[in-house]
Amino acid sequence: MTESLDASIAALQDMIQDARIVAGFTGAGISTESGIPDFRSPDSPWMRHKPIPFELFQHSAEARREAWRRKFAMDDLYRDARPSVGHLGFASLVAAGRMPAVITQNIDGLHQASGLTADQVIELHGNGTYAKCLACGLRHELDWVRRCFESDGDPPDCRICGGILKTATVSFGQTMPDEAMRRAQKLTTSCDLFLVAG
Ligand SMILES: [Zn+2]
Repeated sequence: MTESLDASIAALQDMIQDARIVAGFTGAGISTESGIPDFRSPDSPWMRHKPIPFELFQHSAEARREAWRRKFAMDDLYRDARPSVGHLGFASLVAAGRMPAVITQNIDGLHQASGLTADQVIELHGNGTYAKCLACGLRHELDWVRRCFESDGDPPDCRICGGILKTATVSFGQTMPDEAMRRAQKLTTSCDLFLVAG
C-alpha cells in the first residue's frame, strides 16, 4: 500500500514537473481536514436544513432572517478552521509559478488563508466571508452585518443604495458568476495538467 502510494506520489511529481501549465480544482473534500464538513460528512449541518432558494431570499424578509441566523451559527462553529495540507500544497504550486490559479467550488476562503491572493482563487460559488449588495454589488463586512442583525433582529440594507444584502455566495437558483466562469474555462482549456482535489 505504502509502496503504491509512494509510486503514485512520484508519478504525480513527474506529471507536475513535465507540465507547462497546471490548473487546480478543489471541492468541499479539501476543507473537511480543516474541520468543515461537506454534504456527505456524518451529521452534516448542510443536510439539517433545506437550502433557501435565491428567489425566496429575495422576496421574503423571514427567509432572509433565517438565512442570516444560519450563517452566523455556522460561522461560530467553523471560526477556527485553518488551511489543510491540501490547501498549502496548492498554494506552494501557485507560489512556484506552476499553477496560475486555483478554481474552487468552496466558499470558505481557506485558499486565501493559505496565502493566495483574491486573484489567484477563481470562486465558482462565490465567497462566504463577506456580504454583497444584490442591487449595486457593494461589499459589506460580516462583522458589521452581524452587529446590525443582533441589535435590530433584521439584517441591514446596503449602506449606499438600500438594496438587499446577502453573503457573496451563489445560492440555489442564482446565476453562476460570469467572470469566474470565463476565467475557469480559459484556465481549463489552456492547461496541460488538471489537478482535482476534494
Ligand atoms: Zn447597494
